[in-house]
Amino acid sequence: MIRRPPRSTLDRSSAASDVYKRQYFMCSMLTSTNRLIDDALNYTNISKELAHRIKVPNATYSINFGVRLNDKLHTFNGWRCVHSDHMEPVKGGIRFDIDSNLEEVEGLAALMTYKNAIIEVPYGGSKGALKINPNDWSEDELEKITRRFAQELIERDMINPARNVPAPDMGTSSREMAWIADEYKRMHPADINSLACVTGKPVGKGGISGREEATGRGVQFIIREFFRNKEDFKLANFKGGLKGKKIAIQGFGNVGFHIAKFLQEEDGVLVVGIIERDGAIFSESGLDVQKVNQYKKNNGKVEDFPKSQFFKQGYKMLEFPCDVLIPAAMEGVITNQNAKNLKCKVLAEAANGPVTYEADRILNEKGIFVIPDAYLNAGGVTVSYFEWLKNLSHVGFGRMDRRFAEAQNQRVIELIEKALGKKVDQDAKDKLLEGPSEINLIRSGLEDTMRVSYNEIKEQHHSNAKITDRRTAAYALAIKKIADIYESMYL
Ligand code: NAD
Repeated sequence: MIRRPPRSTLDRSSAASDVYKRQYFMCSMLTSTNRLIDDALNYTNISKELAHRIKVPNATYSINFGVRLNDKLHTFNGWRCVHSDHMEPVKGGIRFDIDSNLEEVEGLAALMTYKNAIIEVPYGGSKGALKINPNDWSEDELEKITRRFAQELIERDMINPARNVPAPDMGTSSREMAWIADEYKRMHPADINSLACVTGKPVGKGGISGREEATGRGVQFIIREFFRNKEDFKLANFKGGLKGKKIAIQGFGNVGFHIAKFLQEEDGVLVVGIIERDGAIFSESGLDVQKVNQYKKNNGKVEDFPKSQFFKQGYKMLEFPCDVLIPAAMEGVITNQNAKNLKCKVLAEAANGPVTYEADRILNEKGIFVIPDAYLNAGGVTVSYFEWLKNLSHVGFGRMDRRFAEAQNQRVIELIEKALGKKVDQDAKDKLLEGPSEINLIRSGLEDTMRVSYNEIKEQHHSNAKITDRRTAAYALAIKKIADIYESMYL
């Protein structure tokens, strides 16, 4: 059992004590999610029995397996949880993280159930983890470990195009997904849909354009939608639009980097702070996101990044004044210890479960507008859904209609030119001529999904004056959708 550490050690400053402390926060994640769901249930008429059935995880598979590396046998520990299979396949990432544990995996799987329901992808919820620090192993070793882990899961249909479809998460990427897909194909050579057993694969190996950036892109679409909604940004005491707003990001990996890049390059925000494992960097006039990314790749840290101030106790920067604070690293970083000190106007949860239940209540009382993980970071699973559809249909998006659309557009331009008696501007012509490419269709489908869910949740919020926040509204919506499916199931 993991015990709560003494109060004096409840900070996240030193890497050495981080593991122990994080385990305390981890073990409360499923409890935290369930308490938030309990609050949301007050705004539904779902019976206690059905609510209980939905909340408890269906099954969690714990695995210990051995891999011989350099003539030495190593034993690894991993999990795959199916939280709810009210729809199949179930879906959710696999993370590689030395701090993972069973409670964390179950909490994250629960979040996937609600997230998938909110954005209406036809999946139940699942999650997996391997307790490993990927940096401790060479690429060859990691491949062997990943393939062995995949074999264990495939043998039990915990990876299967029709039953359970993983994706990348913390510590994993398209590389691991390609190994998993290949392992599945090796074990099921006659399955014509084998590529659909996992999403987030490299584009050349059955993946889809835009998957790697998808979670960050989805966050950008939701933040833009927030600034389009006057009532919402007034609630957060904002004036003006997104341009020039100051943001701080914790976690500069796949999700954090893409959010910072898109918001800086396309929306003109100032990325004033970046918090990483080794500490935080700050610049009042804004950090160059691409340069920080290159610097972190070259040096494995953010410390000493030119023209920035460095803070060893990176977690303290969560409390710096900024317009939008974006935790994009991991769970349980905003707790009842630091929530009261936050000075942001909006807290956008790009990571899964960064705010504990108690902290969530404090943020509400402080009037900080929280955009919850349950839909803010759903861009990844949305584009994973598109990839899965592409794998099952065996044809890329846009392949059938791109040239046809271009020919139609050409005819329209010719008619316009005839009617005007002059040529259409070449730049406008090029834009009009363009048929739908895969990346454009993916971005359009993603933007639609994110904006529709934002507004559905907003409506749910406004439908009942007693609902105080977007998280409660989002969970009320999710649980109603899931209950609706359960009602028609044979139980
Ligand atoms: P990643 O491994 O690519 O990046 C995580 C980053 O956080 C790394 O740069 C790491 O150094 C940093 N980090 C770790 N511990 C930290 C700490 N204590 N303080 C500051 N920085 C720290 O992972 P990712 O895929 O970007 O995932 C980040 C979060 O987003 C996770 O909570 C994950 O569950 C969630 N998420 C990811 C996806 C996806 O598509 N990858 C989708 C939805 C949600």
